[in-house]
Amino acid sequence: MSLDWRSKLIQPDMRAPEGFRSLATPTYRGSTTLLRSAGDVNDHWDSKEQPYRYGLYGTPTTLELGARIAELEGASYSFITPGGQAAISLISLTFATTGSHVLIPESVYGPNRELAERLLSRFGVQVEFYDPLVGARIEQLFRPSTRLIWCESPGSITMEIQDIPAITAAARQHGIVTALDNTYAAGVHFDAFAHGVDVSMQALTKYIGGHSDLLLGSVSVRNQGLYERLGDAHQLLGMNASPDDCSLALRGLQTLAVRLAHLESSTLAVARWFEACAEIESVLHPAFPQCPGNALWKRDFTGSSSVFSVVFKDVVSREAIIRFIDSLEMFRLGFSWGDVTSLIMRYEQLLNRSGRWPAERIVRINVGLELVSDLLADLEKGLAALRA
Ligand SMILES: *Cc1c(COP(=O)(O)O)cnc(C)c1O
Repeated sequence: MSLDWRSKLIQPDMRAPEGFRSLATPTYRGSTTLLRSAGDVNDHWDSKEQPYRYGLYGTPTTLELGARIAELEGASYSFITPGGQAAISLISLTFATTGSHVLIPESVYGPNRELAERLLSRFGVQVEFYDPLVGARIEQLFRPSTRLIWCESPGSITMEIQDIPAITAAARQHGIVTALDNTYAAGVHFDAFAHGVDVSMQALTKYIGGHSDLLLGSVSVRNQGLYERLGDAHQLLGMNASPDDCSLALRGLQTLAVRLAHLESSTLAVARWFEACAEIESVLHPAFPQCPGNALWKRDFTGSSSVFSVVFKDVVSREAIIRFIDSLEMFRLGFSWGDVTSLIMRYEQLLNRSGRWPAERIVRINVGLELVSDLLADLEKGLAALRA
């Protein structure tokens, strides 16, 4: 058919040659996905059955990232979500039903707590927060209506290591789904499925992205039934992830092992500096004995990563702590972690909500890829400001 030039803008005859091969995964953008025949039109999300039906259900770029995360975590499938918080909401909205009871550790990531308190409760879900160190005694909290147990290990900010095998074993006996926020371990330092977890999620924003330039999340499963329930909700909630962001995350994956190894040793060095500091009461680093659940970390984890917290002694004033943070130049003040830049943050408001911790005196540190000696020199300067 001979077309007018205006039509050819949309439906060209001439194309670049096919057959290009590159080491990089191509970025496929697309909402409409072309189907072959009117005979096989259907609108099911399941990419295992037929991968490409509509951009929302996946492009080769987003499904490649999902496949790579699944491989890394030993899952059968990983759903990609627009961020870590979206991964959390996908899990909670899939398994929490009206009248059901959901258990969440007190040490959970703040927005997970808020989702439960402000949104799940609106749908008639009974939300109960539990002691992250409860272990096998979690069984005493079970009700006939318990449907979902959240775990996060180490906990956000206060870093408690949970006895995941004990919790998942108890849950399994009662047919309760367990979900783990496995962001700290980057899906590799803790093997969620080997420790009995049903659903493992990560904020890919942190170690997988690794460069503070994207937001993504993943939800990984092994079990077919859970896969189907999550997949259905993933479609209905419209959890699209940008192929451009997924392509950056695929790049991030390639350097994950070297970044994690470097971050682990730098972070241990910085944590040791804090341990030797007279103003510090305790260093909440999973590899340190003062960290609650340290023995479980030794038993269950294969490494530590870049984030830990310190508790200042109660003789150190709130103002002095703020002086310390504000005088630092290399440790930048900002949320998030797992990237190349060192960060520091106070969480007084958030920690006050639970009332379990000395909220004013806890500071969280994320170590980046800068040279350790420069970081320690910066901290020395901060210490001088704190003491002034
Ligand atoms: C950052 C974070 C999230 C949320 O990830 P976003 O991509 O920022 O939405 C979830 N869990 C933990 C433990 C986090 O630190």
